Amino acid sequence: MMNIDVSAMRLLNRASVLNFIRDHKLTTRIAISEATGLTRATVSSLVETLMEEGFVEEVGYGVSNGGRKPVMLKFNADAAYSIGIDLQISHLTTVVCNIRGDIAYKNVRHLFNSPGNQKVDQESIVASIQMEAKSALEHVPHAPQGIVGIGLALPGLVNFKTGFVYHLPNLAISDWNVHDLLQNQFALPVYIDNDANCGVFAEYQKRHSPKSSIIYVNAGIGVGVGLMLNGQIYRGKDGLAGEFGHMTIKEDGAICRCGNRGCFEQYASEQSLLRYLEELHINIPKSTEKHSVLEQIIYESYLGSDLYAPAFDRLAAFLGIGIANIANALNPDEIVLGGRISMAYKFISDSMTTTFQHRAISRNREIPLVMGYVNGVAIGAAGIAMDEALFASPIAISD
Ligand SMILES: [Zn+2]
Repeated sequence: MMNIDVSAMRLLNRASVLNFIRDHKLTTRIAISEATGLTRATVSSLVETLMEEGFVEEVGYGVSNGGRKPVMLKFNADAAYSIGIDLQISHLTTVVCNIRGDIAYKNVRHLFNSPGNQKVDQESIVASIQMEAKSALEHVPHAPQGIVGIGLALPGLVNFKTGFVYHLPNLAISDWNVHDLLQNQFALPVYIDNDANCGVFAEYQKRHSPKSSIIYVNAGIGVGVGLMLNGQIYRGKDGLAGEFGHMTIKEDGAICRCGNRGCFEQYASEQSLLRYLEELHINIPKSTEKHSVLEQIIYESYLGSDLYAPAFDRLAAFLGIGIANIANALNPDEIVLGGRISMAYKFISDSMTTTFQHRAISRNREIPLVMGYVNGVAIGAAGIAMDEALFASPIAISD
């Protein structure tokens, strides 16, 4: 049996009332009481506290059901802010967001790392993250709750629960306790998570559809997948869930960074697009001061070149196959393509969708396959920090 004291019970009730108000555009005390099963007196007292804290506002009267007209309650998305930081190989994107993920401040800082396995300087990465977080703190709008947390999205294998980084392949970093290094620098709680988890959180947050299931395919130098299942990020036992980038889609296929052969990410990533160009004897453009190689390919395609179309088609077909495998396993509401490859969405979406619909079974064929939000990973990192700091159940329920 569960045994919790009165103040813990109040925290738990407060979290469920706050979550309910956040998830509904407008609501009433009666509706909250009916939905949560709490007495009207308890709801009134909790709403009072939440109004004092700036989370809830009264906004006029609703329609009466015979008795007095109910006072309408509205959630204040600007009651608190959080910082989200997305660490990629070449840059850090930092945002300050409100509770709904609207950006109040954004900055992109270039880092001087080149892709590949060359060792990068971990101390300078930490210093850059600190510097970015500190300047973000200076740009937080005035809010009743101020800033409540910092979220950091990392490209690789991380344990959200412990804050430990197992491996970031693109940065050649392993066994890194970056969470503790950062936490020592800030009075605010710091959270770290995998970038695909952050991406899926941002998509979920923007859709205002509690309990929905969204799959976020983060295709860049590698392929990671974020799983939002019934309104919860599914991270697995050690935080390693979603590594669909390493499902085998071709026996004896291209060798992967993980040591296996034929992994999905060897066929659906930025590197694989370059390999297709080589295989098809298409000249690979040089990077320019403004554009990386991938950006140059996309840029020329936008200008009307169809030189790269055959390579885009190969990439799109493999993306369609991999995504159909994931959809057939999980039957989500929606699938989102994010990451650097999504910049080429216009040139791959038709062929990717055709293959996807061919390989998906039954109703999975109808699952929408859409492009991710710009800056989604940074927004999601801020969102996860916000969610943990304000909305997570304050008590881990066990028997
Ligand atoms: Zn692999």
